[in-house]
Amino acid sequence: MVPLNLKDKVAVITGGGGVLCSTMAKALASHGVKTAILDLNLEAAENVAKEITEQYGTISVGISSNVLDKKSLEEAKAVINEKLGSIDYLVNGAGGNAASATTQTEIMASDDSDNLEDTFFGLEMDGFDKVFALNFQGTLLPSMVFAKDMLNKKDGSIINISSMNSYTPLTKIPAYSASKAAINNFTQWLAVHFAKTGIRVNAIAPGFLLTNQNRFLLIDEKTGEATPRGEKIIRNTPMERYGEPEELAGTMLYLLSDWANFITGVVVPVDGGFSAYSGV
Ligand code: NAD
Repeated sequence: MVPLNLKDKVAVITGGGGVLCSTMAKALASHGVKTAILDLNLEAAENVAKEITEQYGTISVGISSNVLDKKSLEEAKAVINEKLGSIDYLVNGAGGNAASATTQTEIMASDDSDNLEDTFFGLEMDGFDKVFALNFQGTLLPSMVFAKDMLNKKDGSIINISSMNSYTPLTKIPAYSASKAAINNFTQWLAVHFAKTGIRVNAIAPGFLLTNQNRFLLIDEKTGEATPRGEKIIRNTPMERYGEPEELAGTMLYLLSDWANFITGVVVPVDGGFSAYSGV
């Protein structure tokens, strides 16, 4: 059997200071991968890098970089090349939603015309621009900058982070849903474009995990009980629970590793069965 071949590879993890991607970076480090933790928030990136070095003894650097700014990514690449070597893996983890691109109302009532602010009609273009930029361009630009090293060695692997809402949109978050659908489409496009270069491109679509991004929507702050939306999610997840950040790691390691050498252009749901279930 082909070995995983992860040891001493160099991985860039954008959004690596955040909840899910710091866990993924730690999983990589636990397999001997050298990690560059990129985040807008330098302190968060440096803390994760420090924890990794202490816990796993592998080199890790925390770098402040903006996934929407090519120059900032190129500066980060120069630091990574100097401190860690040439890049083998990229995890495009920076992403998220914005309140101004979120409706208050899930499904409009026939007599909602007095309350348009809470519906589709109250959404702000600025919110759409921000969410599309962060999720889509924030995946495209780092791929453009960091895949250059992979091209030079004709070997490399990119993982994009999609979401359940990329298959069927979730209520309230049209911009986030459409931008993650764009991630699935772009994953396929880039996989085909790179197919003969030795660079593979795949995505993970996490199901529902309780994180800072969605906790306020899923748990009632005052009572600690599930909100109606939280109840609906659990009801529609056949395993009847939220996922844990660690549960994304196995799929990421497998897709990055040589075990997946003939796999490119797939989006793997890690969702407790949510995407397979019609609700009936
Ligand atoms: P998070 O908010 O904890 O982490 C995101 C990190 O990205 C933050 O540290 C933030 O500082 C950083 N960031 C934001 N803008 C940036 C920019 N312009 N440049 C560089 N860094 C920037 O989020 P998370 O819950 O860990 O989500 C990580 C990824 O997983 C996102 O793409 C998210 O859409 C996706 N996702 C999350 C869930 C979930 O349940 N939390 C589900 C599906 C998909």
